[in-house]
Amino acid sequence: MTDRPATIVRDPAKLALPPNLGDWAQARQQFRWSDVRHELFGSAGGHGNIASLALDRHLAAGRGRRTALRCVAEDGTVRDVSYAELASRANRFANLLGALGVGAGTRVFMLTGRRPELYESVLGSFKAQCVVSVLFTAFGPEPLRTRLEIGEAEVLVTSASLYRRKIAPIRAALPKLKHVLLLDADSATKAASQDPVTHNYELLMTAASQEFTTLPTAAELPALLHFTSGTTGTPKGALHVHDAALMHFATGRYALDLHDQDIFWCTADPGWVTGMSYGVIAPLLHGVTLIVDAGDFEAERWYRILDEQQVSVWYTAPTALRLLMKAGRELADRFRRPSLRLIASVGEPLNAEAVWWGVDVLGQPILDNWWQTETGGIVVANTPSQPIKPGSMGRPLPGIEACVVEHEADGQIKVLQGPDVSGELALQRGWPSMFRTYLGQSERYDKCFVGELYLSGDLVRRDADGYYWFLGRSDDVIKTSGHLVGPFEIERVLMEHPAVIEAAVVGLPDPIAGESIKGFVTLRAGEDADDSLRSQLIAHARRRLGPSLAPRDIAFVESLPHTRSGKIMRRLLRSRELGLPEGDTSALEIAR
Ligand code: ATP
Ligand code: MG
Repeated sequence: MTDRPATIVRDPAKLALPPNLGDWAQARQQFRWSDVRHELFGSAGGHGNIASLALDRHLAAGRGRRTALRCVAEDGTVRDVSYAELASRANRFANLLGALGVGAGTRVFMLTGRRPELYESVLGSFKAQCVVSVLFTAFGPEPLRTRLEIGEAEVLVTSASLYRRKIAPIRAALPKLKHVLLLDADSATKAASQDPVTHNYELLMTAASQEFTTLPTAAELPALLHFTSGTTGTPKGALHVHDAALMHFATGRYALDLHDQDIFWCTADPGWVTGMSYGVIAPLLHGVTLIVDAGDFEAERWYRILDEQQVSVWYTAPTALRLLMKAGRELADRFRRPSLRLIASVGEPLNAEAVWWGVDVLGQPILDNWWQTETGGIVVANTPSQPIKPGSMGRPLPGIEACVVEHEADGQIKVLQGPDVSGELALQRGWPSMFRTYLGQSERYDKCFVGELYLSGDLVRRDADGYYWFLGRSDDVIKTSGHLVGPFEIERVLMEHPAVIEAAVVGLPDPIAGESIKGFVTLRAGEDADDSLRSQLIAHARRRLGPSLAPRDIAFVESLPHTRSGKIMRRLLRSRELGLPEGDTSALEIAR
């Protein structure tokens, strides 16, 4: 890796399309949220409903025949849904809710695979001014019960088979859940559910009118409830408002560089904030075509979709990229990527090797960006027109004021100035998609803010050029031999080694060092997990990091524990190593 340049500079004139973000500094200086508001609502003080912006605005502009959703079924068959069709189905769903007596503010949950009904019911719920929460279908009954309970779900859209397997066993424990709307329902299911308020989705949709007039929607009206990934503990329910659409629109423009004719694929499930903000809202706000893949990750399937569907902008995650790297170059080379113009990644640190793999194998660098459930949208990003520093998450987008802070002994916060600083990443409050509370945990919410600053809980370094580098989460920090170190600083070095695909490190109690560092790594196919490789890796880490920060031991593992949204659960590695209770594992992905 050392022979690679530290920065990738692309000539904007050579990009397939002129990037939306030209000069970064100038764009930041000129940016006003009121201008975005004006563009979307026609006045600097305007506000409105996410679904009206995502659907009705396009219909009014004569763009109703465009393809909104290109749905790829598990067997690969493709079905297109136009903006007009999606709008009329969303209207039906809004009317259906009205017919059930469900009104503004009601929590409507979805638990279904990625299929058109998921998208139409989400958008219809926005129209009816209900609060939407999408649950990940791989959750078992218990994690579902917790989330439905915390979220005070009154309506649930799900399929007959998911209902039978996952909801029927917990329904009695959810007295607030008034209506269940079943997809693929038949009379047998209805009889089996023995419940008077379990409805047949399609029958009610057919009976509902396809005309619906959305009521004026206040900027601060709650729209979305997202549960965090549960990487560091029990998932929190973050509430977002309709005004968040401004952020989704602006970041779709600047970070994802969405252009009129784009075919956009966000691989995240709408059960996670990425799959909602960018897998539903941002692309529809921009009127582009959204790929909806019903299938799960499979390297060949993904390459085929990029090829056959002519995806132009692709938003994915480091875990998936690392699995593609593991699958090897030959597979990548069997497919074309005729239209692919931009690849972005979020969710976990993207190591420099992965960015360079993008250059070598996919023909372009992968653009890492950073944000959280709490920020609701992309905040720090690499963009196509800007120099990319592989391994860095980029710089704050227009409209975002970020800084690095230090906690002082008296509980105060000090904003660190200077050309190269490390500390906690903080944001000036006021960006439109900022979460408005943690449901049922308002004290915890209040603790995230000090004055005008939101404290992210993530540790970063900001270099002399203003680029942010992820160091780790503040809860994951390791204290060893008098040093404070973020795990990613060490993992990044382990992943430089050609044998390593993925790495995680944790601190274990040590009487002398305070904590000693243990690494867990997965290896590229064909590598021997033996003592010689272990010594090589430790020697490599000692050379790059110095003896006190290098792992003292390394375990070779088949896979690392991930959350279902793809994040490494270091706390689980640590508690397993120490024989401690595992804590909340509701978000744990079954090992791949
Ligand atoms: P929980 O808050 O429940 O522990 P979580 O923080 O993983 O879970 P999310 O909101 O889904 O839940 O994830 C946001 C976090 O993911 C960020 O705070 C950061 O730690 C990590 N993250 C996101 N993008 C990046 C990135 N580009 N580089 C490094 N880390 C990232
Ligand atoms: Mg978090």
